[in-house]
This record gives sequence, C-alpha cells and structure tokens, in this order.
Amino acid sequence: MRIVSVVGTRPQLIKAAALLPALRALHQEVFVDTGQHWDEALAGTFFAELGLPRPDHSLGVGGGSHAEQTAGMLARLEPVLLAERPDAVLVYGDTNSTLAGALAAAKLGIPVAHVEAGLRSFDRGMPEEVNRVVADHLSHWLFAPTPTAVANLAAEGIRDGVVEVGDVMRDLAARVVAEVRAPAVLGAIGAALHVPLSPGEYLLATVHRAENRRPAAIAAWSAILAAAARADRPLILALHPGTRAALASSGRELPEGVLVVEPLGYRTTLALQLHAAAVLTDSGGVQREAAWLGTPCLVLRPRTEWVEAVSDSGGRMVVVGLDPGRAAGELARLAPAEAPELARARARDLHLAPAGAAAAIARALAGGRP
Ligand code: UDP
Repeated sequence: MRIVSVVGTRPQLIKAAALLPALRALHQEVFVDTGQHWDEALAGTFFAELGLPRPDHSLGVGGGSHAEQTAGMLARLEPVLLAERPDAVLVYGDTNSTLAGALAAAKLGIPVAHVEAGLRSFDRGMPEEVNRVVADHLSHWLFAPTPTAVANLAAEGIRDGVVEVGDVMRDLAARVVAEVRAPAVLGAIGAALHVPLSPGEYLLATVHRAENRRPAAIAAWSAILAAAARADRPLILALHPGTRAALASSGRELPEGVLVVEPLGYRTTLALQLHAAAVLTDSGGVQREAAWLGTPCLVLRPRTEWVEAVSDSGGRMVVVGLDPGRAAGELARLAPAEAPELARARARDLHLAPAGAAAAIARALAGGRP
C-alpha cells in the first residue's frame, strides 16, 4: 500500500521510528512532517538520532493557537494528499497533527489508520482527549495498544477495524535498551549535564502538559519537585520549552537541587529512566517507559489513559496528581534508602521483550481496508 504518515511532534517522531522498519518492509511510506514541534531539541535532533528519513513534505506549520495550528495543517495537508493519492493516511497518538491528518484524509475520502487508538482520560478539558476522540471516530484501522483501549472504543460503538496490537513505543524501547543498560552510560550523561550521576542516586522529571502550565499547577508541581530533590539526590527536570516559558512567566524559582535541563535525546531519556531512583512525569510516553523498565514512577496529573501501566506495576506507578503530601509519601515508599541497589539490580535483570506492535500494524494494513 501507499501510505502517507503524518507526524509533527516529538512523541510522533519516536512512534514513527518504532514503526518504520516494519512499515517500509511491506508498504511504500510517504513521510509528512507538519512542523507542530519545530524546535531543534523537540524535533530536529530526533531525525538524526532515530534514523528517520527526511520528510517528503515539511509543512512548517509551527506554533499558534490550537485553531490556528490545526487550520494551518488542514490547509497544507489537503494539496499534499491530493498530489500523493495514498491508499491510507496513518496518524499517531493525540496531537493537533493527529486531528488534522485524520480530518484532512477523511474529507477527501481516504481511509485513516490511527496508531494508539482508543485511549481515553475521560477529561475533555485535555486538548489531547478531543484529538483522540475525533481521530478514532474518523478511522478505519484502529490500532489499540491495550485491552482498555479496545473496551473504550467498544463503549463508543466502534468495533470494526479495531485491532489490539500492543504498544509501538515498547518495540522501540526494546530495540535500543541494550545500548543504555550499563550504568557506565551515566558517566557521559552526567558530564554533559554537569552533575555526577550514579544509579538510584538521582530522580528524573518531565512536565509538559497544557494543564500543568497554569499558575496554580506550576506552584503545585514545583513544590513537589522541590521537596523531592535533596543535596545527595539531585532531580533532573528535562523541561519542554512551553513549560519553561510558563514557569518563567509565573516568576517561580526552583531550588538548587532541581537541575533544569533542555529536552533530552531519546536514548538519554531512556538511560536516565532506567537508572533513576524514581521518575516523576505527566508524560504518557515516559509513564509507559518507566513501567517497562520497572522504574518507580509518580504520575503528575489527576488521571491517566494508560490504565494498565498503573494496574500492572505492582504499586510501582502511582497517579499522585498535584498533591504534594501524597507525592512525598509515595516517593518515600518508592525511592527508599536502598534505591541505589534496587536501581543496579533493575538494570542488570531487565528483560524487555518487544510488543510486536509495529509488525502487527504493517500486517493489518497489508490485509486491506477493514
Ligand atoms: N522524551 C525525550 N526527551 C525528553 C523527554 C521525553 O526523548 O526530554 C521522550 C520519552 O522518552 C518518550 C517520549 O519522548 O519516548 C514522550 O513524549 P512526550 O513526553 O513529549 O509526549 P507524550 O508521551 O506525553 O505524548
């Protein structure tokens, strides 16, 4: 099949890299980058690191309000789809690029394939939730990563075309984790970040969701991070530029133990997760990676669409929202004094099997339109 895949953000570049070998083994892929993330740290470096091809079409949409961004993508995608005449358009996840890709294709009568279909936080206040719901209702192939996602789709009356394939991001993590398993990788990362790093003797945090850029939310998560960081246990906060700008305009300062760094590369992020005492995050991707690696994780939002990551974690992953008391209590339990030994054992004993999601998606597409 001739497939236009639409990417635009960091997690979509990562998912596209996970799918690429399996997809291109069976199909012809036309790669379209909307430019929703345009900054080097969030997009540019990932092409090189993940071996992604240059996009066949770069739409250069950039920033703006949700409406401006989505409208710009729709207007620029339509002529590309008319010229490329694909058999299907493949979209990933839950961003404005997902919504625009699905809508532009559906309006032209081109079948849509959605990778990460069926996820629901049941919070329509999250822009991602709106994008997911619309993309799913426009899709012909719905590649669900989890049983809960399949059930969510069924509850909305969507059964045709639903295939539970597992998680493509797990395929990529399984492919590269061997490169970061040795604790020695922390030496080079620590040197680059100007902080000495040892297994289990630091924390990693990421914060990027829109709801965590509001002043009250910034006050709450910065209190959580400030309480978590200690002189003998630094906290590395890999900060999205949007959150960095919101933090700056809030006027709030983070204490010295919180080391604010630019967004990191994929392997660096995976390495820092694997060897950390614990991870604190509002990211969907980081949550699952922490789950696969067995690293304790505090989820810094009120609910998660990755239900199984929590329920299958044996208590290692906890949705704490922005409650500083709860976060401190759970962190004391999840990252105790013996965290360094636990982190060493975790990296040594890790066996991360791929999900087989990429191959299942490529095969399902080869079967033709459901
Ligand atoms: N990630 C990264 N650098 C960072 C933070 C995250 O490479 O500084 C990776 C992370 O390992 C995961 C993906 O980005 O693979 C998650 O993307 P993000 O948190 O932006 O979005 P979400 O998963 O919440 O949609």
